Amino acid sequence: MKFSVMTLFPDMIRTICSESIIGRACDAGYISVEAHNIREYSKDKHRRVDDTPYGGGMGMLMAAPPVYDCYTDVKAHLTGTVRTIYMSPQGSLLTQKKAKELCKYDNLLILCGHYEGIDARVIEEICDEEISIGDYVLTGGELPACILIDSVARLCEGVLSDKECYENESVSCGMLEYPQYTRPYDFHGKKVPDVLLGGNHQEIKKWREKEALAQTLRKRPDLLN
Ligand code: SAH
Repeated sequence: MKFSVMTLFPDMIRTICSESIIGRACDAGYISVEAHNIREYSKDKHRRVDDTPYGGGMGMLMAAPPVYDCYTDVKAHLTGTVRTIYMSPQGSLLTQKKAKELCKYDNLLILCGHYEGIDARVIEEICDEEISIGDYVLTGGELPACILIDSVARLCEGVLSDKECYENESVSCGMLEYPQYTRPYDFHGKKVPDVLLGGNHQEIKKWREKEALAQTLRKRPDLLN
């Protein structure tokens, strides 16, 4: 899976995606993340990419031409299936189900807005869908893009060591995960449940299912509907 991000702040993407599990997966060649600077496609002599909105109002809007030129150039270099996504507070909410759907594409081409957003015509012309990471407004699409990349990348072959890592996880199976413990056995007087020490895998499985259900009922009853 290749992630190509169109942004005014490519270093934000590069910095975040070169660390930890995603960074290692890139180094190992399981995925790749590229950030393309929309500003390089500005034909303005001051390399401006924004302008005031027609009809007046606060703030600046990213203009259509540099976004479009960036898109056509980046897209021309991609092979295989491509899904183009605009990170937007107006999009449908990112869910685990959506991440699973998106990991089937060869390429995700992700557009990040800034300022007041982007001229609506270019979004309509190039994007297959809009995705939001939550009902709040951020200053730019870069953090949302990294969140989308992280959620999709960890479902890609090779990124996590074992499929089981994500198959039983919170939300993946419609429930939250059971509580987990590691050494020490006694932390501030709180001991690890005995069943986990007994080595009876049947019992452990039963305990975990029960705890997952209890955890979901307590923290996210909406998931059970
Ligand atoms: N005026 C716009 C918001 C612009 S916020 C509106 O009301 O719709 C600036 C940029 O940040 C957006 O173009 C988008 O790319 C990004 N962004 C802000 N909040 C986001 C969210 N919740 N999810 C995804 N992207 C978001």
